Amino acid sequence: MKNIVLFGPPGAGKGTQATSLKKKYNLIHISTGDVFRFNIKNETELGLLAKKYMDEGDLVPDEVTIKMLKAEVEKNGDVNGFIFDGFPRTTSQAIALDAFLTKKGTKINGMVALEVAEDLLVERLLERGKTSGRTDDTDEVKIRNRFNEYKTKTAVLKEYYQAQGNYFGVDGVGSIDDITDRLAEVFDKL
Ligand code: AMP
Repeated sequence: MKNIVLFGPPGAGKGTQATSLKKKYNLIHISTGDVFRFNIKNETELGLLAKKYMDEGDLVPDEVTIKMLKAEVEKNGDVNGFIFDGFPRTTSQAIALDAFLTKKGTKINGMVALEVAEDLLVERLLERGKTSGRTDDTDEVKIRNRFNEYKTKTAVLKEYYQAQGNYFGVDGVGSIDDITDRLAEVFDKL
């Protein structure tokens, strides 16, 4: 199996890139943000809970997110592997993911990170907010809070995967196709 964590700050282009890469490598793309948004749209119990946090740009609690992620993986039987997009976002989530995959006889092959400067990201998110319908993309205060969550809780995961020798940074600035090619170079080796 090829299990890859596609990593990067909000607006780095994880979702866009995952859409191309999942086809190229025949992998299942799990975006925890997309799963939450689907649940919000369908007004499920999980959706109602997640909405409170997402509307503010806060992270959804680990316990809820980890349970949801495991259920998403279990929904897929025998597959080539997964692209995890937006998960893990905390050290607890990374530890839980490792334990879960070990139990299933598999592992994370690598964290592939899109590296983009913050100023560029705020511009990108505000631009995306004009068409995405995502309320967390239209308000600069919420965007800044998402970055704050990223810096205080998520960025540390770089070291977590580096310690396993599994961190691969990729320049996330350029055309979508060029960035896909850069990511593919890393995916090929994993
Ligand atoms: P995203 O679509 O990845 O930008 O995620 C949108 C929002 O969903 C985040 O700002 C969080 O509120 C929530 N979310 C998505 N993934 C996670 C996660 N792994 N842990 C906690 N909250 C998450």
